[in-house]
Amino acid sequence: MRCPVCGGDCLQDAGSVLTTLPEIFTPCDRCTITLLDKRRAPSPAYTPAPPCQCRRRFLDDVFASCYQIFAEEGIITGTEPLSAIATPVVNPGFVMNTPPFLPTQSLVFLSPYPNQKTAERIVSEVPEVQGVVKTGKTVPGITGGHLASHTLLAGCDIQANIFPTSSGDLVVYKELSRLHLEFPRPVNPKIRAVERAIRRENPMLFIDACCGAGTLGLAAARTGTPEIIFNDVYGPAVFWTVVNLMVNQDALHLDEVLLHTILTDLPAVSNDPLLVAEGLGEQQHITIYQGNFDRLPAAIPEVSRSLSALDIFEKDQRQACMTALDRWRSAGGGKAFIP
Ligand SMILES: [Zn+2]
Ligand SMILES: [Zn+2]
Repeated sequence: MRCPVCGGDCLQDAGSVLTTLPEIFTPCDRCTITLLDKRRAPSPAYTPAPPCQCRRRFLDDVFASCYQIFAEEGIITGTEPLSAIATPVVNPGFVMNTPPFLPTQSLVFLSPYPNQKTAERIVSEVPEVQGVVKTGKTVPGITGGHLASHTLLAGCDIQANIFPTSSGDLVVYKELSRLHLEFPRPVNPKIRAVERAIRRENPMLFIDACCGAGTLGLAAARTGTPEIIFNDVYGPAVFWTVVNLMVNQDALHLDEVLLHTILTDLPAVSNDPLLVAEGLGEQQHITIYQGNFDRLPAAIPEVSRSLSALDIFEKDQRQACMTALDRWRSAGGGKAFIP
């Protein structure tokens, strides 16, 4: 699969990603480690170690190299704490017990500070950095009816996250400038909630009505639920759900993934449900729509014995959750829960 952001080979099927774990970030015997205090500025005299002959380098040294470029370009004064300049996102992301030794092209650097030149210097001079994203004030996606995204300044910003489920690991890719960040945890409470609800209700149809990059619907598909529907109002979310269905196609035993809409033509927002793609397997049928979640029930023929997860954005607001559930039920959507 070609990477839809950079055209390179950063996108791989789930099996290929999973075989690289966990050794991908494990040091060789010759790798060196210097722990830096991330609450302080690194000493101007400190020279980060170059990559080891195994082409890995300790996270702190990669970060210190980026810090030096920031300082040389006048983006920071050089007195800021090391940890204050950016959020490092490793690719692939999975639960690690020790800090990573990064191979080439395995870190996306998210920061509110860089300009174009600094970003290009970092990508060309720090081999471990795969991409530099300038972050805006708002989390990417749709919040309160407004579209927001960060800006990819240099390199590529796709990242794979590994999510353990009861039926095996899922690989979920996303574009960090256009979808919100998630950090893998040893136990993912939302995936657990979906698996518990499916065990309890044994639905014929599971609907991931606000699917984002598709994690919960994919976890539901791994339980063997015969019919799965994904939906999101936001184009980039639907785009990556389709990619992630293809990435996990073998684990889901799908014979093919059919596209009904050209992925690059997806609108940023679609209110009426647009049929985007289908996954076809002997035991399972998967459909992906783009649209407003409360218009979805009218578009799907059979919602009896269905169970829907409404993974809405403003979940910490109890009122928003109640409103979403009400909207879903009054649209004829049937049984639903907030994971
Ligand atoms: Zn790429
Ligand atoms: Zn090494």
